[in-house]
Amino acid sequence: MIVSSPTAPSRGHASVYPSLDALLAAVRSCRACEAHLPLGPRPVLHAGETARILVVGQAPGVRVHRTGVPWDDLSGERLRVWMGVDRDVFYDESRIAIIPMGYCYPGRGNGGDMPPRRECASLWLDQLLARLPRIELTLLIGQYAQRHFLGSRRKPSLVQASSLVRAATRPGVAHTNPRAG
Ligand code: SF4
Repeated sequence: MIVSSPTAPSRGHASVYPSLDALLAAVRSCRACEAHLPLGPRPVLHAGETARILVVGQAPGVRVHRTGVPWDDLSGERLRVWMGVDRDVFYDESRIAIIPMGYCYPGRGNGGDMPPRRECASLWLDQLLARLPRIELTLLIGQYAQRHFLGSRRKPSLVQASSLVRAATRPGVAHTNPRAG
């Protein structure tokens, strides 16, 4: 995982949609690469305009495709522990936006799940980022997110990244300690 902070990802494209909700509705109706998706389109992402943290992962697996809940698996449990947030906070779109590089399950190849479909980023990502003006911290999880957002600026050390996120997330979600209810 790599953390980009405090600078949010580049935002260049204004959206033709009048609001984030309208944009999300359009994304959730997307069928741009339907012919390549073995289980059909089911974009899984969520975001609120007040979110301060952005989680960018790879693409949904089969389980997430079925439930429609992002990070609803063991890797999600590990991520939440690492971030120090419980499910209520993690799935509160007013605080945390979850936008993977590919929004639909891409199917399986020889070495596991296929890479995220590139169409999502080219069609939607900049528009979504333009609608998230308060992002202060971006978690780039996996090579596809890191390549897209950082290019040659990728950091080699997970430890470095972890220390960054600990420093940056705690103040922003200070009231979200699960033990504090
Ligand atoms: S993978 Fe992305 S571009 Fe393709 S249908 Fe799903 S949302 Fe649309």
